[in-house]
Amino acid sequence: MSLPSKKIIEIQDNVYSHEFKMLNHVSELIFNNDKCIECDFCAKVCPKECIGSPEDMGIESDLKRYVDIDKCIFCGICSFTCSGFALNLRINGEPKLLLIENGSLPELKPKELKIKETGQKIQKLVEGTTKIESTEKKVKTVENFVKECVVGALSNKETEIIVDKDQCINCYKCQKAAEKNYPKINVDVTRARIPNEGEVSSVWKRITEALLGLPAAITDLQGPTKKKMTEQVLNLLGKQAK
Ligand code: SF4
Ligand code: SF4
Ligand code: SF4
Repeated sequence: MSLPSKKIIEIQDNVYSHEFKMLNHVSELIFNNDKCIECDFCAKVCPKECIGSPEDMGIESDLKRYVDIDKCIFCGICSFTCSGFALNLRINGEPKLLLIENGSLPELKPKELKIKETGQKIQKLVEGTTKIESTEKKVKTVENFVKECVVGALSNKETEIIVDKDQCINCYKCQKAAEKNYPKINVDVTRARIPNEGEVSSVWKRITEALLGLPAAITDLQGPTKKKMTEQVLNLLGKQAK
């Protein structure tokens, strides 16, 4: 038995274990930087706001996404919604999501895809649309914009931008890039629903609303639900440790 402790260890090249030891119980949130497709589903759903791009987290790092281990409660929700399978939660060495086991999270029905260039397996969690309007006349600029989509859903014919709707995971990455660096390109990503099966728990309802981009729901996630979820996870961990 040991005192609670947290640390980050690089367990292989570009793969990091965020480790939380509590009594005889070890939780690990594993992050594979190479697999991360910068979709930010993790940042949207985290109840503690402790995962995101280094820029959004206000730190300097070469990692695509950064976890503030001091705030992390090892709930695993980020891994549940990770489009690139870059995050995994393990409890005592086993892949495990306590919030699924206690019925707080449903069974998702994602569409399995592969990144066109690399063949890496990814998942499309949400159904929605991505519309692009462009008045950009420089082919080089359009080509650079198309490269913002790391899953290969964008292509161009000269200055015409084409969205492969079957490949698009509706992640907002190209929309954010357009808003920041491409004034003549306008992107509108909308998310409609998250296919799933199971009971609609209060935790899942708030996560769904946050992923679908409803601001009120995000505020709600950061309020009483966050406290409730923290208590729920710590309770579950305590039960597991017995
Ligand atoms: S395990 Fe939970 S608290 Fe930690 S980063 Fe993921 S969603 Fe946030
Ligand atoms: S959800 Fe996964 S793939 Fe997407 S940004 Fe987060 S860690 Fe990267
Ligand atoms: S086209 Fe845009 S919204 Fe669709 S997957 Fe690529 S970056 Fe994400």
